[in-house]
Amino acid sequence: MGPVNDLIFLDSAGSSIPPAPVVDEVVGHLRRETEVGGYRAAAERHDDLEAGYGVLAELFGCAPSEVAFTDSATRSWLAAFDAVPLAAGDRVLVTEVEYGGNAVPMLRRAEETGATVEVMPSDRHGQVDVAALDLDERVKLISLVHVPTNGGLVNPVSEVTAKAREAGALVLLDACQSTGQIDLRGLDYDMLVCTGRKWLRGPRGTGALVVRDDVRRRLRPRLIDHSGAEWTGPGRYEPRDDARVFELWEFNVADRLGLIAAARYALAKGPDVIETEVRERAEHLREGLAALPGITVHDLGERRSGIVTFTSDRVPPVELKDRLWEENVAVTVSQLSSTRIDMTKRGLDEVVRASPHYFVTHEEIDQALERISRSGR
Ligand SMILES: *Cc1c(COP(=O)(O)O)cnc(C)c1O
Repeated sequence: MGPVNDLIFLDSAGSSIPPAPVVDEVVGHLRRETEVGGYRAAAERHDDLEAGYGVLAELFGCAPSEVAFTDSATRSWLAAFDAVPLAAGDRVLVTEVEYGGNAVPMLRRAEETGATVEVMPSDRHGQVDVAALDLDERVKLISLVHVPTNGGLVNPVSEVTAKAREAGALVLLDACQSTGQIDLRGLDYDMLVCTGRKWLRGPRGTGALVVRDDVRRRLRPRLIDHSGAEWTGPGRYEPRDDARVFELWEFNVADRLGLIAAARYALAKGPDVIETEVRERAEHLREGLAALPGITVHDLGERRSGIVTFTSDRVPPVELKDRLWEENVAVTVSQLSSTRIDMTKRGLDEVVRASPHYFVTHEEIDQALERISRSGR
């Protein structure tokens, strides 16, 4: 299954096209709920839902006990961040490409606790400058965006985590734009958040959180219910001893089954194979765009992802995006408000974002380039 009407789909960084097994799983489960009700339908899939923790663990290279299902990356991020103890004078470090949805809750908590939020310097490629990291025992958390929402760079992960460990700081990895396009197995981090709908090709309203077992014991999850903890007596409760302490009792079963199917689908194709195929397509697009008169490519980074951003010197980004949709090329616009620190530094308001997944052919990329050339004039 792919896009309809010859649509050239270049928006897997926004919300991708789910493959048939994902749709079948979601729709099939909704149908079953109409036959036997939600409780019975869920009970029938109990084993598959349990197996899902192992499937995601394989994708992230972690243990099943370290996985929690949520309804978005932001929900995962809020749950993990809220559980990190912070006090006056503590430091939280962010990258220049920090995402708006992470920045706002951090600023809010800084206000409440007296902790500070500071931006880590980037190197000349725009990636976190690991050598220049200024860490001390007051640094409690590093919020590390793996792949930003507004450009092609890929931040180093294990190198940052190694430095954080020396200072006793935790690393919260925003893998929203890397999950499903970059092989995450083997990366070292303390906590990870991802979304289902982007490169993983899962349903909307799905996400996951990874919290390493040893890290979980240093956190204090606050928003827990009778699924994250057992109500053991009228005045007592016992929190779960795994990442599911971060889950709530109620969830959309059909969507979760869809997310698990999406993760299985990615694993069957091979995260390493996907990474190579996405990189090839993005490079093809980037090189083609760079050769077009009047088009400027804005991607930073020494190592590049599947996100390609550009502007035209004639047509404003939103108008160019609209013209491309008319021409059956699906792209989006990334706005200043999503990545304010980086966009401000580079003097950018908006950029057109094209994000080709492995299901986009090289011929389609050539056609997209022709249409961008036409529409950008
Ligand atoms: C999309 C995105 C998010 C938020 O994901 P949701 O599932 O919408 O909550 C977080 N960080 C980055 C870098 C993103 O691109």
